[in-house]
Amino acid sequence: MNTVITKKKHNFFAGPAILPASVLKQATAAIEDFAGMGLSILEISHRSKQFVSVVDEAVSLTKELLGLDDNYEVLFLTGGASSQFYMVPMNLLPQDGTACYINTGTWSDKAIKEAKLFGNVNVLASSKESNYTSIPKGYEIPADATYLHMTSNNTVFGTQHHAFPETNVPLVCDMSSDIFSRPIDISKFGIIYCGAQKNMGPAGVTLVIVNKNLLGKTGRPIPTMLDYNTHIAKGSMFNTPPAFPIYVSMLTMRWVKENGGVAAMATKNETKARLLYNEIDSNPLFEGTTAVEDRSLMNVTFKMKNIEMEEAFLADCAVADCVGIKGHRSVGGFRASIYNAMPIEGVQVLVDVMKKFASKNA
Ligand SMILES: *Cc1c(COP(=O)(O)O)cnc(C)c1O
Repeated sequence: MNTVITKKKHNFFAGPAILPASVLKQATAAIEDFAGMGLSILEISHRSKQFVSVVDEAVSLTKELLGLDDNYEVLFLTGGASSQFYMVPMNLLPQDGTACYINTGTWSDKAIKEAKLFGNVNVLASSKESNYTSIPKGYEIPADATYLHMTSNNTVFGTQHHAFPETNVPLVCDMSSDIFSRPIDISKFGIIYCGAQKNMGPAGVTLVIVNKNLLGKTGRPIPTMLDYNTHIAKGSMFNTPPAFPIYVSMLTMRWVKENGGVAAMATKNETKARLLYNEIDSNPLFEGTTAVEDRSLMNVTFKMKNIEMEEAFLADCAVADCVGIKGHRSVGGFRASIYNAMPIEGVQVLVDVMKKFASKNA
């Protein structure tokens, strides 16, 4: 085999996003020959004992990393986080019930739209008016709400909930872009879901963690494939699961565990974010785009004080092999996504580009 090894770039894309180098290496090997079977992982039965053990390990790693007790079921589904926007209310919200939502960005907004198809929706707080540059605080949560939905990290706008509300209402949380990035108090959460392709694995699988005590209370018929209970009963094997994305996600969870678990990830993520935000705040050419106390540790959004210089800066990033820095079209400027798998060295390369750019344009 003639493999040309090109130098790997510094991947700041928001998603699909960076994966640990060691995970990509193992994934590559499994495409050739999985578990000594003499077959590729892409061509084996999902019911083979070798693949069943992958799913079992992915479930147990999820439980271990997040400290889940036996009330929680771990599912690997398809349809992306976007399908959870409707599966959550379809499975939890009775037609005469009320679901509360906090609107902190594009993804929350989409979740709210879907929930309205199934019951009453009460948007308790929103930062839409300020183009989602901060996280709303100090809202009242009605005690009789069926659940409170939040987006823990706003991938597009670069804000993050650094604390979750004190309430007995079960929290439902879209953690697509910060799952496994920090310890959480699981007892507050009824459902956590995430598309894998930000901080957990490749696109194609959706992790859903559900407190089974909340299910079966809507009184509505639910199509088999959209009923969490179907997938709980069949261990995510009701139909053919996305085998390869599950495998690569499992490898990434193993990597998180080997590297100290979510607490160690949090420490590393804080260090990386501090490095980059310090440069944004001290560099005369740049400024942050969000409220300082709500800044995301995963997606760092910033812009140039002089917008005319943006193209030149992006060109310098490209020369330094930093890719994926251009901001989301709805925000502009820049966004550096620094998920778990991004090493501090990668962030340092970007910081050095910013420093050089400032001295050259002083
Ligand atoms: C990317 C993203 C989504 C959408 O995920 P899909 O898997 O593409 O449906 C939803 N929520 C958040 C917070 C995201 O970052």
